[in-house]
Amino acid sequence: MIPPQIAIVLVNAISLDRQCRTSADLLQPDRARHVEQSFADGGIACGARLSYVGAGFTNTGKTVSMTAFNRILAFDPDAGTVDVEAGISLGKLFGFLIEQGYELPVQPGYPAISIGGCIAGNVHGKNHAREGVFGAHVRELTLFHPSHGHMTCSESSNADVLELTIGGLGLTGVILSARLEVVPLGGAYVRNRVDAVDSLENLFERVRQSSLESDMCYGWFDLTRPKNKSSHRGLLVRAERTQEPAESTQPRWQNRLKTSAREWRRRQIFSRITLPSVNALYRYKSLHTSQSQLIHLFDFLYPAYGKESYFYGFGDAGFIEQQTLIPIGAESEYLSAFWSLLERHEPCIALTTVKSFAGADGSYLSYTGTGTSFTVDLPANANSREFLASLDQINIDVGARSAILKDGRISAGSVRRQYPEYGKFKAAIDAFDPKRQFGSELSRRLEL
Ligand SMILES: Cc1cc2nc3c(=O)[nH]c(=O)nc-3n(C[C@H](O)[C@H](O)[C@H](O)COP(=O)(O)OP(=O)(O)OC[C@H]3O[C@@H](n4cnc5c(N)ncnc54)[C@H](O)[C@@H]3O)c2cc1C
Repeated sequence: MIPPQIAIVLVNAISLDRQCRTSADLLQPDRARHVEQSFADGGIACGARLSYVGAGFTNTGKTVSMTAFNRILAFDPDAGTVDVEAGISLGKLFGFLIEQGYELPVQPGYPAISIGGCIAGNVHGKNHAREGVFGAHVRELTLFHPSHGHMTCSESSNADVLELTIGGLGLTGVILSARLEVVPLGGAYVRNRVDAVDSLENLFERVRQSSLESDMCYGWFDLTRPKNKSSHRGLLVRAERTQEPAESTQPRWQNRLKTSAREWRRRQIFSRITLPSVNALYRYKSLHTSQSQLIHLFDFLYPAYGKESYFYGFGDAGFIEQQTLIPIGAESEYLSAFWSLLERHEPCIALTTVKSFAGADGSYLSYTGTGTSFTVDLPANANSREFLASLDQINIDVGARSAILKDGRISAGSVRRQYPEYGKFKAAIDAFDPKRQFGSELSRRLEL
């Protein structure tokens, strides 16, 4: 039973991409015992609710926010670990660690993202080819599930539950705390290098090479005029650590992507008419103002910070992102099919980015392996959906997989065909929790 001290607030839950909207009973406990009571009948845990899709809320059970649990519990530089509560944000932990001369080896691109969200999504950063996914650096976690109680999960204890919880989309229960690996800080500032690249094929190649040589690397490409090949131009962005002195080691920041802001009505700014100029300006500024600039590590790690208006530029209809891991060796087959689709559908593509991945294929539904991670963002409309439905088929044909935490419209059928361990994941969750007490709008769409 939910204790009277915990308010249940009926909220409009809207995913960041705006493709999933529902009402949700939100609970925000701030005492450990209230967390257990909040989850007495299951539900779903959420962190900052910054997932593009409806992963962190449900309208069939309770949505329980863990953001009040944001303490650093222990720091052991000799062991190279930090213990934290799962609701702590990356930005808060960054501020603590940088002062100790340490950092997390893998970080996704926004400071308000929670550690619970990083574990449950098994997220990646801009250095996958070197450091892999977030889950590879989780030494231990504490999980609570009403049927199993508190479980300490590590390689030596409940290893199967650890594996199922990392990338498990919150379906194994609530992560209360975690012991994470930390590494000595490579430098508080990075030297940011930006180079022009003339084709997407070259960008794939150069991102792959540079990811092994640079500390962090990604590619950006302009596809706003799909049929006009001469407008297709990209940027290779690389960062090298530097030991140059930092004036301030702990930048001040605040979450500018709060879920409440998603309720405001927004006009659509991004369109076929405006996007070419937006992209041309971005490219010009990147090449001319930051070609070889010294920037704070915070700004490089979290590039979306300060650019939040991007997410609102798509208006009320929102956007759809497809992030695809193209296996090594399949890039040219993928790209030739991609160019044909571009000719046929002429989609309006707002943003295209490229990262290089290296390592073994992930277990269950984790988005990891060796290849090129290729991301496109499109305004949500019928033409984009048709284009992406055709891309789903290409992904299946070439053995690529879409990141399920990013794509707000991919179907259970496509995920089943892209992820060989889809059935194994579902069976493992069913075995762990036969009553299936945890679920989200995402898990419902994907029939998990
Ligand atoms: C600007 C921006 C940039 C991003 N960049 C990247 C990137 O570079 N790489 C990348 O991989 N991703 C990236 N993401 C996606 C983001 O890392 C993931 O969606 C992450 O899961 C969001 O964490 P959150 O705290 O907002 O979690 P939520 O959205 O609240 O929840 C996400 C999932 O985690 C589960 N969860 C959260 N907390 C807990 C808990 N305590 N116990 C159990 N389950 C829990 C939820 O149930 C849900 O399934 C980005 C997102 C944004 C908005």
